[in-house]
Amino acid sequence: MMSFEIKEKDLLARIGKLKTRSGTIETPLLFPVVNPVIQPISPRKIREEFGFEALITNAYILKKRFQKQFSDNGLHEFLDFNGVVMTDSGAYQILVYGDVEVTPKEIVEYQERIGSDIATILDIPTGWKVTEEHAQQTVAETLRRARELFRLKTRDDVVWVGPVQGGRYLDLVAKSAREMRKLPFQIHALGSPTEVMERYRFDVLVDMIMTAKMNLPVERPLHLFGAGHPFMFALAVSLGCDLFDSAAYALYARENRYMTEVGTSRLDKLEYFPCTCPKCTRTSPKRVSELPEKERQIFLAEHNLHVCRAELKRIKQAVNDGRLWEHLEIRAHGHPALLQAVKRLRKFQGFIEKHDPATKACGLFFFDSLGLMRPEIAHYKNRLTERHAPPKEATTLLLAPQTRTKPFHKSKTFMILAHNLRPLLKEKSPKIHVCFYAAPFGVIPIELDEVYPLSQHEIALPLDNETVEHVAGQVISYINRTNYKTVILLNDPENWGKSILDTCRKACQKKEITFRTINASTDQKQLKKQGPEKIARKVLSE
Ligand SMILES: [Zn+2]
Repeated sequence: MMSFEIKEKDLLARIGKLKTRSGTIETPLLFPVVNPVIQPISPRKIREEFGFEALITNAYILKKRFQKQFSDNGLHEFLDFNGVVMTDSGAYQILVYGDVEVTPKEIVEYQERIGSDIATILDIPTGWKVTEEHAQQTVAETLRRARELFRLKTRDDVVWVGPVQGGRYLDLVAKSAREMRKLPFQIHALGSPTEVMERYRFDVLVDMIMTAKMNLPVERPLHLFGAGHPFMFALAVSLGCDLFDSAAYALYARENRYMTEVGTSRLDKLEYFPCTCPKCTRTSPKRVSELPEKERQIFLAEHNLHVCRAELKRIKQAVNDGRLWEHLEIRAHGHPALLQAVKRLRKFQGFIEKHDPATKACGLFFFDSLGLMRPEIAHYKNRLTERHAPPKEATTLLLAPQTRTKPFHKSKTFMILAHNLRPLLKEKSPKIHVCFYAAPFGVIPIELDEVYPLSQHEIALPLDNETVEHVAGQVISYINRTNYKTVILLNDPENWGKSILDTCRKACQKKEITFRTINASTDQKQLKKQGPEKIARKVLSE
């Protein structure tokens, strides 16, 4: 009945089509939370004016307060919403308010009866400040209820969500995910992230999401419960979360908090609205703060929802363009906690690399060492190690610096370099194998320098130390695993200092092979001055 078809991928993100009884929705998708008791924006308006094709509401609240107003399959009519309706089981409310007026069985039957398109079992959120023993119990009980669902359910046209619990106990998250994947759920969800997010522990959130992701079937969409702030959408989508729900747009509005894609501002602290949504363009913070409370809340809720939608669209376009990493880096610099979370991705680089598409629609931008975690860099490194060998006849490695123009071997700078080295090349060619040392990829053999993305990237100079070290490390491991008899380094001190020189020399000494070096400025004027004879004489005589 439900199908999930993936259209585009970038990092672990995917643009997909999710088919449900009430229509097909496109992921990544945000379900605005509609609270049937107090709702600042009507469901009809959420669809017609804001363009949200789906929303989520709480089955527990509906059952408790509105049960009598419902006919069978009456959910859409009651909400006046003809899109896709997801229902949460109210597990979170039950946990917070300690209310146990409903059984897991009742909530399953109720969601089927009212006609939810996507429904959730009554899971037990693990929470944050809990013992491992308690966390263990929440996992076990959630699993028991998950298995029970398949004995209870009677309809085949409701999509059921299987929540993964375990909180910050990653072994438990893994175990929970491994058990959940055995059950025929169509969507999975990661439970209990709310408190982690409230504490700004996005690094822990990365661990939790990735642990779940690595142990769940990748082809099933993953919902992140309670992730309602646009400033972390890019992070969550990059990690492969396909679905979100946001109550925050309305909750923040009640506290006069104004969302932006990089954080939150208090309305009374704003002199200007940094937003061009239809609400903000027509007024000012001062005028909005003078509105009666209810109108002010509606204004803020509507603005907040616009910001969420805009950020999701930006993310989707970035996925389309193959630029999600760049977008993620920009967002990571919106808050130190997010940057810390992105740094955590190093731990999962291998898994991300395995799922990231090898070729993208455009070249990549390398800003600084944070970009070393990009899957493209790991991908190239693995490919070069596993699948590339220098030409058999090559006995000398000539290491040339990267040039501004790409491909390197067609750049004017390299042409002059090659011209200067002509006497040398003539003498030894074809025994000389030219490779470039280049940020951020490391060693690039000349025969590969047009392969994507080795010529399709831009870097910022001067390089930071970590990037230089990374490249130096790649040079060492290249020398170590090959069998050249001589290494000639064209050293470019302007961009690389002594780093490549020192590491090359050490690697050659250790391998007991000949090492030569020439200063090879990438400055064209300097190069022309050097001239061919002088350089060749210098190298050959050394
Ligand atoms: Zn706005």
